[in-house]
Amino acid sequence: MGYVFRTEEQKAAVEGLKRYLEDKIDPMFNQEYRDKFVPREKMGEVMRELTKFGLVSGVVSEANGGMGVDWLTMIMLFEEVVVAATDLSVPVLINSFGAHMVEHLAPAHLRTRYLPGLISGELFCSIGISEPDVGSNVLEIKTRARRDGDHFIINGEKTWISNGAYSDFLICTCRTSDDQRRGLTHFLLDRNEHPYEVRDIQKIAWNSQSTSQIFLDNVRVPASNIIGKEGEALKNTLLMFERSRVFVAAQGLGIARRALEEAILYAKDRRQHGKVIAGHQLIAAMLAEMATNVDAARLLVYRAASMVEAGVPAEMEAAMAKYFACESAVTVARQAVQIHGANGVTKEFLVEKLAREAIVVPIPEGTTQIQQLIIGRALTGVNAF
Ligand SMILES: Cc1cc2nc3c(=O)[nH]c(=O)nc-3n(C[C@H](O)[C@H](O)[C@H](O)COP(=O)(O)OP(=O)(O)OC[C@H]3O[C@@H](n4cnc5c(N)ncnc54)[C@H](O)[C@@H]3O)c2cc1C
Repeated sequence: MGYVFRTEEQKAAVEGLKRYLEDKIDPMFNQEYRDKFVPREKMGEVMRELTKFGLVSGVVSEANGGMGVDWLTMIMLFEEVVVAATDLSVPVLINSFGAHMVEHLAPAHLRTRYLPGLISGELFCSIGISEPDVGSNVLEIKTRARRDGDHFIINGEKTWISNGAYSDFLICTCRTSDDQRRGLTHFLLDRNEHPYEVRDIQKIAWNSQSTSQIFLDNVRVPASNIIGKEGEALKNTLLMFERSRVFVAAQGLGIARRALEEAILYAKDRRQHGKVIAGHQLIAAMLAEMATNVDAARLLVYRAASMVEAGVPAEMEAAMAKYFACESAVTVARQAVQIHGANGVTKEFLVEKLAREAIVVPIPEGTTQIQQLIIGRALTGVNAF
């Protein structure tokens, strides 16, 4: 469904990955570790395998040791990871964008030190923007980095930070001056050399991976650990969002697709009123609506990824993809539960987990409302934030 435009190379890349995911990852995340935290060592083993298929390694150019895969193919591979295990897609996404930032923004001494480990799956990173009082409006960041000679001293708190417990380093957005737009700077904090405290957060779903609070108490870091230039974190974050939002949109797409696949299997098996429920028109209509939403989400996601690859500005298209695919995940997962009847709310069936996973995805990387505001601004030129 919706795959008619795939090249032979893309088909081969997706099929090879899919076999590994179905064989190893699906049972691991949906049975053995269902709703249980996957320890760092185990997550590391999986990440090392995935990098061989181009996940994480693909976003880095061959010149810098990566596999240099185009963004559309990356999204196709990433969609398959989500279909097998949403939890696993989180470290893939965060390490990919950590690698992207380190490759394009970090000075050479940080690039040569941290990029090879991310590409090979040995290292994990976190990207710390959100704070207890700072969510949708990143301009309000309070975590402060004060200059002290050729170092900075960092104090503050980050929250909802993916990969926190796994992280070897944190790309931390800090305030270096009071200028709201030009006063934000990215620092790379090495967990051993510039220690930060991590506490994990329990959530409705996505608990097989780490989402954390991070506490920064007088963390002393050299000025040479600035990523990008001082004062340019806002500009660089907004550029990253255009790409990373397409990946979160693909998380919505993947959850919705898996929910549809599970619903089709169940509808062909469950019998009521003398026939399989797929034979009842209202069930057929629900499946048709679900499949149409999944394909529409995929087309929006692929369009945004293609624009990113072509180097065309895609802020509105990435926002449309994130908005539609993530809201579709919630709708489609709920319909999949409905098709399962009471079985759908039990731990015996995957749709129970998918419905909980779906409800999370419209929040990170800009909520649905923030995406709507971005689309509205692009349409009218009027800022409604
Ligand atoms: C699983 C998960 C992983 C995450 N990972 C990371 C991470 O790795 N790094 C990181 O930095 N952050 C991360 N986040 C945080 C995420 O980016 C924020 O949760 C998100 O930006 C929203 O901020 P908030 O939760 O503070 O909500 P708020 O900004 O407080 O919003 C609350 C509600 O108000 C609405 N709202 C806000 N402003 C407006 C407005 N102007 N107009 C209309 N409605 C508005 C929102 O849409 C929402 O419905 C993660 C979050 C989750 C759930």
